[in-house]
Amino acid sequence: MPGPLSVRRLASILGGALALASGAVTAELTQAATRPAENALVTEGLVPEGLVPDADPSPENSAPTPEPREASVALEVPPAPPREESGSQSDAPPSWPTSADAVSSNLRDGRIITGATAHRFILFTFDDGPDVRYTRDLLDALDEADVHALFFLTTRRFEDRTPYAQGLAAIAREIVARGHRVGSHSMDHVQLPLVSTPDLATQVDASASIIEREIGVLPALIRPPGGSRSPRIDLYLASHGYTQVLWNLGTGDVQVRSADAVLDTFRRVLEVRERQHGERGGIVLLHDIHGWSVEAFPRIVAYLDRKNCELLEAGEELYDFVDDPAFFYEARREGDAADAIADATIPDEVIASRQIHARARAALRCEDTAALDAIIAGG
Ligand SMILES: [Zn+2]
Repeated sequence: MPGPLSVRRLASILGGALALASGAVTAELTQAATRPAENALVTEGLVPEGLVPDADPSPENSAPTPEPREASVALEVPPAPPREESGSQSDAPPSWPTSADAVSSNLRDGRIITGATAHRFILFTFDDGPDVRYTRDLLDALDEADVHALFFLTTRRFEDRTPYAQGLAAIAREIVARGHRVGSHSMDHVQLPLVSTPDLATQVDASASIIEREIGVLPALIRPPGGSRSPRIDLYLASHGYTQVLWNLGTGDVQVRSADAVLDTFRRVLEVRERQHGERGGIVLLHDIHGWSVEAFPRIVAYLDRKNCELLEAGEELYDFVDDPAFFYEARREGDAADAIADATIPDEVIASRQIHARARAALRCEDTAALDAIIAGG
């Protein structure tokens, strides 16, 4: 891509990163997030890039005709969550899933989920995989931590029938078999606003079809590479039934090279998010294509478990490892724009019942805080 584009992208990244906060700590954090990409390939930094200049904003391309996806849905897809009308009964049951759904197919209404929450919900997401070197180790670590995560798969590598591609597909199937969710992360990890509307059929829809072919589930969730969006992309994704999952707890793991640095960045971002935005939990971004990220994961969990020991003592809400973006999501209402952001309101009774489980977990893990401290330290 020519130079001017890189300059615009840099400005965009800076703008997004600075939106995180203005303090000295985050000014330091943003240093790592300001590396411009050489071309349309992007990496995920501390914060999503957000709206970026669109390469194809022409009106005729801005309102794609929705294609019926139901025809290719292999699994039984539940209807969209009920849309709350003013005056409707307020005692309707909560609309998020109570059982595991590998693709969160109930979230098919085009919302944009940022992870912002006042509650201490923590959802781990892993992008760019699977990876033959690290993903199985990560799955073992997830089991060990009793945490379920959400994986956003980049799908070009599944396309051919080489042994390598088949090996990746087998790992992807194992991700689902072991109770985790999957979403699409595009075919080629490109910045979607730079993709022409006709080519979105490849980057978005064909990518989802590959996941369906190899894993047997058609994803409803997509994470746009880099978190890059535009009004055209928002409209395209919403009209094709994809819900975008962004993140608010970046770890900078693409920019650093050690588990120590990933853990340190996570701690600081968590602290800044709470202090400056009132967000006490959120969606954590990691990449299972990096050894240091997979190494950092159990240390991050131990860090949160360790904090829970103090919160338990103080009688406060505990960090709660959730396994579904529905905890950050509210159903799109009739007439909502394609770029409507979902801010979930979770009923008190749901929080209370989950906190019972979180306290039971903490009571167990806090029996040996020295062991937690050793994990945090990387021992
Ligand atoms: Zn990515």
